[in-house]
Amino acid sequence: MKENTTPLLKINHPLFLKHKLEVWVKLDYLRHSEVQGNKWHKLKLNMQRAIQLNKTNLLTFGGAYSNHIAATAAMAKAYGLQSTGIIRGDELAKNRSKWSPTLIRAEQNGMTLRFVSRQDYRMKSTPQFTSQLSQDFPEAYILPEGGSNTLAVEGFRDFMQEINQQLPDWDYLFTAVGTGASLAGMSKFANSQTSHKNRKLIGVAALKNADYLKPQIKAWLESDSTHPQQTQWELKTQYHHGGYAKSSPELDKFMRWFEHQFQIPIDPIYTGKMLYAFFQEIQQKRIPNNSKILLIHTGGLQGKTNNKVKVK
Ligand SMILES: *Cc1c(COP(=O)(O)O)cnc(C)c1O
Repeated sequence: MKENTTPLLKINHPLFLKHKLEVWVKLDYLRHSEVQGNKWHKLKLNMQRAIQLNKTNLLTFGGAYSNHIAATAAMAKAYGLQSTGIIRGDELAKNRSKWSPTLIRAEQNGMTLRFVSRQDYRMKSTPQFTSQLSQDFPEAYILPEGGSNTLAVEGFRDFMQEINQQLPDWDYLFTAVGTGASLAGMSKFANSQTSHKNRKLIGVAALKNADYLKPQIKAWLESDSTHPQQTQWELKTQYHHGGYAKSSPELDKFMRWFEHQFQIPIDPIYTGKMLYAFFQEIQQKRIPNNSKILLIHTGGLQGKTNNKVKVK
């Protein structure tokens, strides 16, 4: 699979000057018009595996606003596979007017949507549910919620290599966290031969009480003994603004300011919170002077307000 390199944009602000910081944004939302940023990296090796196994359908799970659902539908379409989305909330089955732009777009891309009650959705990883699914969909390659599995983590190898070529001497990396698979992948492949060892990755959790993600992130990092060289990471759990897909007046205000100031579109669920956290961390002097910082724009713009994807 041939990939384009996405741009790295240096941004300037008096606050950065004051703290002697150099700051770049990795515009990875430009990776693909519909499979933005980290969803591309998480899907690509899974996609290859599905094709190797002669599967003809990608089946996965998500809520009505899941970027992973949108990305899976678009990716399947691009490779001529079918896709099936098991969606949380059976009230949506009969009420199309309540569908999110994400669901509308996923269906337009050929995804078959199956709505299940919240109760059934919670059972989705139980052995009974999965074996029933494999029976109902023998032709399907089943991806977990958020697409997060070991192949998803491995998908960040090329991405980190690309980053290390663009900016070999970065010190800090900020990225938004949902399941933590992307953070794990970035940590796993952050150090190249030439890079220094004091690098640090900061994950900003988009959901409330996110400490429970840490054991899973550690497990992903430790699953592969051939690559023990993970880079230091930290999960910031205080920037959720009320929880997943919730916002606050401060976040709304910050996002308007950021988009206007830097002319970079951002999403309220993930990248808005990550960038908010970054500015807070500077103001609280938690980032040492003279650091070179990378902010990863992981995408998420498809779900923003309408179903028109903004492509530069
Ligand atoms: C899904 C998503 C994330 C979170 O990725 P995880 O690997 O689940 O932590 C971050 N940013 C955007 C824009 C996303 O769509």
